[in-house]
Amino acid sequence: MAWKTMDDVALAGKTVLTRVDINVPMEGDKVTDTTRIDKIKPTVEDIIARGGKVVLLAHFGRPKGKIVPEMSLRHVQPALEASLGRKVVFVERPDRAMIDALPSDAVVLVENTRFTDMEEANDPRMAQFLASMGDMFCNDAFSAAHRAHASTEGIAHLLPSFAGRLMEEELRALEAALGTPQRPVVAVVGGAKVSTKLELLGNLVTKVDHLVIGGGMANTFLVAQGVEVGKSLAERDMGPMALDILAKAKAAGCTIHLPVDIVVAREFKAGAASEVLPVAACPADAMILDAGPATVTELTRVFEACKTLIWNGPLGAFEITPFDAATTAAAQVAAHLTREGKLISVAGGGDTVSALHQAGAAGDFTFISTAGGAFLEWMEGKILPGVAALGG
Ligand code: AMP
Repeated sequence: MAWKTMDDVALAGKTVLTRVDINVPMEGDKVTDTTRIDKIKPTVEDIIARGGKVVLLAHFGRPKGKIVPEMSLRHVQPALEASLGRKVVFVERPDRAMIDALPSDAVVLVENTRFTDMEEANDPRMAQFLASMGDMFCNDAFSAAHRAHASTEGIAHLLPSFAGRLMEEELRALEAALGTPQRPVVAVVGGAKVSTKLELLGNLVTKVDHLVIGGGMANTFLVAQGVEVGKSLAERDMGPMALDILAKAKAAGCTIHLPVDIVVAREFKAGAASEVLPVAACPADAMILDAGPATVTELTRVFEACKTLIWNGPLGAFEITPFDAATTAAAQVAAHLTREGKLISVAGGGDTVSALHQAGAAGDFTFISTAGGAFLEWMEGKILPGVAALGG
């Protein structure tokens, strides 16, 4: 896929409408995690360095088309100023004459784009209004690129458009992991349910050489193959879908790896008494809450044989000890191989990112996506409208 970057356009004297994701968590009027704000800095600085004026467009929370004072981007302005080390001019409604009158290194922050229902409806009137405020459009919000909204997609068709630095980094990393990867490629997909990740699995078996299935969704595959899983979380009605995925994988030459041993407990709570058993030996009154050490050994062997890893979803109920063990161990193996230059590792999704942080492995991964839904849709093989609109 082709998209323009900042290196393909001339920005001197131009006002650049820049869509960012600064949807940061807050407690009261304090931003509790500035990661997303910090990540837009390279783009903002680069536009200014090239003589462009930055007008930031962003959503904040889910106000559903209404003006909700607690979801005003006004609350984010101080943290944004601190991170950028620049003054930020906040405007409820942008005005071209006012923007033009500002000095060329000014940064403007426009109020929450979702305060009108025209945003999510991708109403051309809103796209047109926003486009009239500037000369070019920069999309730096990969995490919002799976939605065709006025400020992500509509506007991109009205102005010369390009990807910001963070968007560029995301697209390159994802392209390197799934588009034209170094092979063999292993994908790890875990989490609670098969039903939410069917499309993902269906796409991956046609793209990767090894697919590791873990977490609650592995139980569904075990049940489909006639293995008893006691009281484990499993979607018994998804059996035919699971078998279909296995058949597709076989036809595509993708090797599926399911747990070979399991960690079971009678209670779903931290420190619950647990035991390691062979995969087919789950007692009728127990639950499978993690993969066992023999599974980790097998995954280590697979990771060592591969050049690229893409990861979404934990291998067990990682939020409670000791059921984080397989996820943590596998994450550390991936981190180690990445550090040694033997593996390109890309991960994304909220749970996955916290599991990797918990394992102390996140820092060593080649790339950790800040996007949840957009990362998943990319793994599903979908075209993201916000990215496609930058193609021209
Ligand atoms: P997802 O949002 O689909 O990626 O699922 C993540 C959730 O799956 C986490 O909250 C995990 O605790 C949960 N999970 C993973 N493995 C299991 C399991 N064997 N039994 C119950 N829950 C699990």
